[in-house]
Amino acid sequence: MSLAAKSLLSKITGSALDLLFPMSCAGCGKEGDLLCPTCLPNLPRLTSPFCQRCGAPGHQSPCRWCEERPLNIDGIRGPFLFEGSIRNAVHSFKYRGVRAAAAQLGDLLSIYQQDHPVPGGVILPVPLHSRQLRKRGYNQSALLARRLAKSNHLPFDDSLLMRIKDTRPQVATTSRRQRIDNLSDSYKCRASAPGWAIILVDDVATTGSTLSACAAALKDSGASSAWGLILARET
Ligand SMILES: [Zn+2]
Ligand SMILES: [Zn+2]
Repeated sequence: MSLAAKSLLSKITGSALDLLFPMSCAGCGKEGDLLCPTCLPNLPRLTSPFCQRCGAPGHQSPCRWCEERPLNIDGIRGPFLFEGSIRNAVHSFKYRGVRAAAAQLGDLLSIYQQDHPVPGGVILPVPLHSRQLRKRGYNQSALLARRLAKSNHLPFDDSLLMRIKDTRPQVATTSRRQRIDNLSDSYKCRASAPGWAIILVDDVATTGSTLSACAAALKDSGASSAWGLILARET
Protein backbone atom coordinates (compact mmCIF):
# COMPACT_ATOMS: atom_id res chain seq x y z
CA MET A 1 0.00 0.00 0.00
CA SER A 2 1.39 3.44 -0.85
CA LEU A 3 2.25 5.92 1.88
CA ALA A 4 -0.50 8.28 0.71
CA ALA A 5 -3.08 5.48 0.83
CA LYS A 6 -1.93 4.49 4.30
CA SER A 7 -2.20 8.05 5.53
CA LEU A 8 -5.70 8.37 4.02
CA LEU A 9 -6.77 5.12 5.66
CA SER A 10 -5.44 6.31 9.00
CA LYS A 11 -7.41 9.54 8.62
CA ILE A 12 -10.62 7.67 7.80
CA THR A 13 -10.11 5.22 10.65
CA GLY A 14 -9.46 8.14 13.01
CA SER A 15 -12.73 9.88 12.12
CA ALA A 16 -14.63 6.58 12.27
CA LEU A 17 -13.25 5.94 15.75
CA ASP A 18 -14.29 9.43 16.84
CA LEU A 19 -17.85 8.58 15.74
CA LEU A 20 -17.86 5.15 17.36
CA PHE A 21 -16.67 6.47 20.71
CA PRO A 22 -18.40 9.76 21.40
CA MET A 23 -16.45 12.12 23.59
CA SER A 24 -17.11 12.41 27.27
CA CYS A 25 -16.15 15.29 29.53
CA ALA A 26 -12.63 15.04 30.95
CA GLY A 27 -13.92 16.71 34.11
CA CYS A 28 -17.19 14.96 34.98
CA GLY A 29 -17.65 12.21 32.40
CA LYS A 30 -20.82 13.63 30.84
CA GLU A 31 -21.18 12.61 27.18
CA GLY A 32 -20.82 15.29 24.51
CA ASP A 33 -17.74 17.50 24.43
CA LEU A 34 -14.29 16.86 25.82
CA LEU A 35 -15.03 19.65 28.32
CA CYS A 36 -18.69 20.23 29.16
CA PRO A 37 -20.20 23.71 29.70
CA THR A 38 -20.15 23.16 33.49
CA CYS A 39 -16.48 22.12 33.71
CA LEU A 40 -15.20 24.57 31.08
CA PRO A 41 -15.33 27.75 33.24
CA ASN A 42 -13.73 25.93 36.16
CA LEU A 43 -10.48 24.86 34.51
CA PRO A 44 -7.34 25.60 36.57
CA ARG A 45 -5.94 28.86 35.20
CA LEU A 46 -2.33 29.99 35.07
CA THR A 47 -2.37 33.36 36.81
CA SER A 48 0.24 35.80 38.15
CA PRO A 49 2.78 35.53 39.51
CA PHE A 50 4.65 33.41 37.00
CA CYS A 51 8.08 33.63 35.40
CA GLN A 52 7.79 35.90 32.37
CA ARG A 53 10.33 33.78 30.49
CA CYS A 54 9.49 30.12 31.13
CA GLY A 55 5.98 30.57 32.54
CA ALA A 56 6.76 28.69 35.79
CA PRO A 57 3.72 29.31 37.99
CA GLY A 58 4.13 30.80 41.46
CA HIS A 59 7.59 32.18 40.70
CA GLN A 60 9.02 35.66 40.56
CA SER A 61 10.49 36.76 37.25
CA PRO A 62 13.04 35.69 36.26
CA CYS A 63 12.73 32.45 38.20
CA ARG A 64 15.90 30.93 39.64
CA TRP A 65 16.23 28.52 36.69
CA CYS A 66 15.94 31.29 34.09
CA GLU A 67 18.40 33.40 36.02
CA GLU A 68 20.87 30.52 36.00
CA ARG A 69 20.32 29.54 32.36
CA PRO A 70 17.96 31.65 30.23
CA LEU A 71 15.92 29.78 27.62
CA ASN A 72 16.11 30.66 23.92
CA ILE A 73 12.36 31.18 23.77
CA ASP A 74 11.37 34.82 24.37
CA GLY A 75 8.52 33.88 26.67
CA ILE A 76 5.95 31.15 27.29
CA ARG A 77 2.29 31.94 27.82
CA GLY A 78 -0.85 29.86 28.10
CA PRO A 79 -4.25 29.78 29.74
CA PHE A 80 -4.10 26.77 32.07
CA LEU A 81 -2.18 24.83 34.68
CA PHE A 82 -1.55 21.23 33.72
CA GLU A 83 -3.72 19.62 36.38
CA GLY A 84 -7.24 18.29 36.99
CA SER A 85 -9.63 18.18 34.06
CA ILE A 86 -7.31 19.97 31.62
CA ARG A 87 -4.69 17.31 32.33
CA ASN A 88 -7.26 14.58 31.60
CA ALA A 89 -8.41 16.41 28.46
CA VAL A 90 -4.88 16.75 27.07
CA HIS A 91 -4.20 13.12 27.89
CA SER A 92 -7.28 11.97 25.92
CA PHE A 93 -6.35 14.25 23.04
CA LYS A 94 -2.72 13.21 22.93
CA TYR A 95 -2.59 9.56 23.89
CA ARG A 96 -6.09 8.16 23.46
CA GLY A 97 -6.57 9.34 19.90
CA VAL A 98 -9.43 11.76 20.59
CA ARG A 99 -8.51 13.87 17.60
CA ALA A 100 -11.88 15.59 17.43
CA ALA A 101 -10.92 17.39 20.66
CA ALA A 102 -8.55 19.59 18.64
CA ALA A 103 -11.40 21.96 17.80
CA GLN A 104 -12.40 22.68 21.38
CA LEU A 105 -8.85 22.82 22.74
CA GLY A 106 -7.66 24.90 19.78
CA ASP A 107 -10.50 27.35 20.41
CA LEU A 108 -9.37 27.76 24.02
CA LEU A 109 -5.95 28.80 22.67
CA SER A 110 -7.51 31.10 20.15
CA ILE A 111 -9.60 32.90 22.80
CA TYR A 112 -6.53 33.21 25.01
CA GLN A 113 -4.51 34.70 22.15
CA GLN A 114 -7.27 37.25 21.48
CA ASP A 115 -7.36 38.32 25.15
CA HIS A 116 -3.62 38.14 25.87
CA PRO A 117 -1.85 38.48 22.52
CA VAL A 118 1.47 36.66 22.39
CA PRO A 119 3.82 38.61 20.09
CA GLY A 120 4.35 37.13 16.64
CA GLY A 121 2.79 36.79 13.23
CA VAL A 122 3.34 33.19 12.06
CA ILE A 123 1.97 30.11 13.82
CA LEU A 124 4.20 27.01 13.97
CA PRO A 125 3.54 23.77 15.83
CA VAL A 126 6.28 22.01 17.79
CA PRO A 127 7.08 19.16 15.39
CA LEU A 128 7.26 15.47 16.26
CA HIS A 129 10.06 13.25 15.03
CA SER A 130 8.91 11.27 11.99
CA ARG A 131 9.06 8.08 14.07
CA GLN A 132 6.82 9.56 16.77
CA LEU A 133 4.44 10.84 14.09
CA ARG A 134 4.13 7.40 12.50
CA LYS A 135 3.47 5.84 15.90
CA ARG A 136 0.83 8.36 17.03
CA GLY A 137 -0.68 9.01 13.62
CA TYR A 138 -1.02 12.75 14.20
CA ASN A 139 0.82 15.66 15.75
CA GLN A 140 -1.46 16.99 18.49
CA SER A 141 0.34 20.36 18.49
CA ALA A 142 -0.15 20.77 14.75
CA LEU A 143 -3.90 20.17 15.12
CA LEU A 144 -4.10 22.85 17.84
CA ALA A 145 -1.89 25.28 15.91
CA ARG A 146 -3.86 24.86 12.68
CA ARG A 147 -7.14 25.54 14.45
CA LEU A 148 -5.71 28.61 16.20
CA ALA A 149 -4.22 30.00 12.98
CA LYS A 150 -7.48 29.54 11.13
CA SER A 151 -9.64 31.15 13.84
CA ASN A 152 -7.29 34.09 14.36
CA HIS A 153 -6.50 34.57 10.65
CA LEU A 154 -2.76 34.07 11.07
CA PRO A 155 -0.41 32.29 8.65
CA PHE A 156 0.39 28.68 9.57
CA ASP A 157 3.55 26.78 8.69
CA ASP A 158 4.28 23.19 9.62
CA SER A 159 7.07 22.52 7.16
CA LEU A 160 9.83 24.92 8.24
CA LEU A 161 10.79 23.28 11.52
CA MET A 162 11.62 19.60 11.90
CA ARG A 163 12.71 17.33 14.71
CA ILE A 164 15.88 15.52 13.72
CA LYS A 165 16.78 13.74 16.97
CA ASP A 166 14.41 11.23 18.53
CA THR A 167 15.67 11.64 22.08
CA ARG A 168 14.29 9.62 24.96
CA PRO A 169 10.96 10.75 26.37
CA GLN A 170 11.08 13.82 28.56
CA VAL A 171 9.36 12.04 31.45
CA ALA A 172 12.37 9.76 31.83
CA THR A 173 14.67 12.67 32.60
CA THR A 174 14.42 14.69 35.75
CA SER A 175 16.41 17.86 36.02
CA ARG A 176 15.80 20.93 33.91
CA ARG A 177 19.48 21.04 32.95
CA GLN A 178 19.27 17.41 31.75
CA ARG A 179 16.21 18.20 29.64
CA ILE A 180 17.90 21.20 28.03
CA ASP A 181 21.04 19.19 27.26
CA ASN A 182 19.07 16.23 25.89
CA LEU A 183 17.15 18.41 23.48
CA SER A 184 19.92 20.63 22.19
CA ASP A 185 20.32 20.18 18.41
CA SER A 186 17.08 18.14 18.27
CA TYR A 187 15.39 20.58 15.89
CA LYS A 188 16.42 22.04 12.56
CA CYS A 189 14.92 24.37 9.95
CA ARG A 190 14.47 23.23 6.36
CA ALA A 191 14.83 26.79 5.07
CA SER A 192 15.74 30.25 6.28
CA ALA A 193 13.17 32.38 8.08
CA PRO A 194 14.59 35.90 7.85
CA GLY A 195 12.92 38.28 10.28
CA TRP A 196 10.05 35.92 11.07
CA ALA A 197 8.24 36.63 14.33
CA ILE A 198 7.08 33.18 15.36
CA ILE A 199 4.49 31.83 17.76
CA LEU A 200 5.29 28.21 18.59
CA VAL A 201 2.32 26.14 19.68
CA ASP A 202 2.49 23.11 21.96
CA ASP A 203 -0.02 21.33 24.18
CA VAL A 204 1.97 21.28 27.41
CA ALA A 205 5.22 22.80 28.66
CA THR A 206 7.09 21.17 31.52
CA THR A 207 10.25 23.24 31.83
CA GLY A 208 10.16 25.06 28.49
CA SER A 209 13.19 23.12 27.22
CA THR A 210 11.39 21.80 24.11
CA LEU A 211 10.19 25.27 23.12
CA SER A 212 13.66 26.62 23.85
CA ALA A 213 15.33 24.05 21.56
CA CYS A 214 12.85 24.91 18.78
CA ALA A 215 13.47 28.64 19.29
CA ALA A 216 17.23 28.11 19.02
CA ALA A 217 16.83 26.42 15.62
CA LEU A 218 14.45 29.13 14.40
CA LYS A 219 16.74 31.95 15.49
CA ASP A 220 19.71 30.20 13.86
CA SER A 221 17.68 30.39 10.66
CA GLY A 222 17.05 34.10 11.00
CA ALA A 223 13.79 34.36 12.99
CA SER A 224 13.63 37.65 14.87
CA SER A 225 11.56 36.29 17.75
CA ALA A 226 9.99 33.07 18.97
CA TRP A 227 7.33 32.97 21.68
CA GLY A 228 5.63 29.86 23.03
CA LEU A 229 1.86 29.53 23.27
CA ILE A 230 0.77 26.46 25.17
CA LEU A 231 -2.48 25.07 26.46
CA ALA A 232 -1.16 24.16 29.88
CA ARG A 233 1.94 24.69 32.03
CA GLU A 234 3.13 22.05 34.45
CA THR A 235 3.36 23.30 38.01
ZN1 LIG B 1 -17.92 18.20 32.77
ZN1 LIG C 1 11.67 30.95 34.41
